[in-house]
Amino acid sequence: MSRPLTLFLLCFFALAVTRASAQTVDGSVYGPLPVFEFHSDFWVNLHHTLYQEAKFRAPQNSQTSDRDKPPSKNRPTLKTSPYAKTPLTPAEQRAWDEALNYYSANYIDKDLLFTTELILIKNQLGDFDGCDELSGRKKKTCDAGLPANLTHVLEIAAPVYRAHEWPSHDLANRRWVLRVAPLVREQGLGLSQRLADIYQTKWPKDKIRVDVCAYANRSGAYTTLEPLRVTISSTDTRNEGAEALEVLFHEASHGIADTVQQAIIRECRQREKPIPRDLWHALIFYTTGEVIRPVISATNADGSSDGSETAYTPYAIREGIYQRGWDGYLKLLTQFWQPYLDGKSTFDDAVARMVSAL
Ligand SMILES: [Zn+2]
Repeated sequence: MSRPLTLFLLCFFALAVTRASAQTVDGSVYGPLPVFEFHSDFWVNLHHTLYQEAKFRAPQNSQTSDRDKPPSKNRPTLKTSPYAKTPLTPAEQRAWDEALNYYSANYIDKDLLFTTELILIKNQLGDFDGCDELSGRKKKTCDAGLPANLTHVLEIAAPVYRAHEWPSHDLANRRWVLRVAPLVREQGLGLSQRLADIYQTKWPKDKIRVDVCAYANRSGAYTTLEPLRVTISSTDTRNEGAEALEVLFHEASHGIADTVQQAIIRECRQREKPIPRDLWHALIFYTTGEVIRPVISATNADGSSDGSETAYTPYAIREGIYQRGWDGYLKLLTQFWQPYLDGKSTFDDAVARMVSAL
C-alpha cells in the first residue's frame, strides 16, 4: 500500500466516528423494511453522476472503450445532460465543467467496483448525507476528510446538481424504492434466510445499506464489501419491477457466498484442477434466480398474492448472461447444484460433483 493512500485511509477512519447521520427513504410509507436499508443520497448520486458524465461525455474520449459502456438497451433512461431542462448559467457551466474535468483526470480510468480509492470515496460520501458541505467549514461534523481537490469540485458542483439534475434523480430513486418496498417487506426475510441456509452461513445481522442512484456502474448495480454495501441504478431497465428484488438479493449474495467460493477452491486444489474464475458468480446468479422464481411467480408486484401465477424468468436467462461463455457452468449448475437446492444432495457433494465434472 502506497504512503499517500495510507494517509488517505487513515483520514477516513479517523473521521468515520464524526460522520453525520444517514437518512433512509424506506420508512415513511411502508414502515421499516427487513434486510435492506434504502438511501437516496445526494452526495453519492452526485459522485456517480459526475463519474458517468465524465466517462461518456465526449466521443473522442480515448480512455473509454465500448466494453465499459452499459449495453445500449439498458442505458439509463434519464437525460444525462444538465442542458436537458433549464440551461446552465455560464457560472454553473464553468463549475460543472471543472468538476467533470477533475473526474476525467482522476477517476474515469478507475473502476467503481474494483478501485479501493473509489470504494472509499463512495462509502464516505454516503455517511455525510445530512450535510450540505463536505469541508466542515460551516459545521465541523460535516468535514468528510476527502482529498481537498475532490472536496472542492464536489462542493462547486453541488449547487448546480441540486438545481438541475438532482430533483429528477431523487424522484426516480424514491419511486424505485416505493416499487420494490412491498416485495422486500413480504419476501425479504424469508429469502435472506433461504439464501443464508443455501450458502451455509449467516445473513448479516445489520440491514444492508443500498444506495439507490440514477447511475450505478455498467452492470446497473454493484456491491462492495467491508462494509457490505449495494449501489443500484434506479433508471436502468434491468432493475425494473419485480426483477429489482432479484438484483438486490444477487448483489447481497456477493457478501455471503464466500463459503461456496472457498469450497470450489478447496475441491479444485484436491483434484489439482485450475480454479474456474467465475463459477461462483454463475452459481450465485443461478441460485438467486431459482430461489426468487417461485416467490415472484406467486406474488403480484404490489406484494399481494392472489394465487394466479405468472412465469418469472431469472435475470441471468433474461439478460443472456450464460451465453457470454458460461454455458458450461449452466449445465453443471442444473445437473449438480439444482439437486442440492431441491434437498436431494448435500452442499459438499454438489460442489465436489461440479468440480469433478469441470
Ligand atoms: Zn454479481
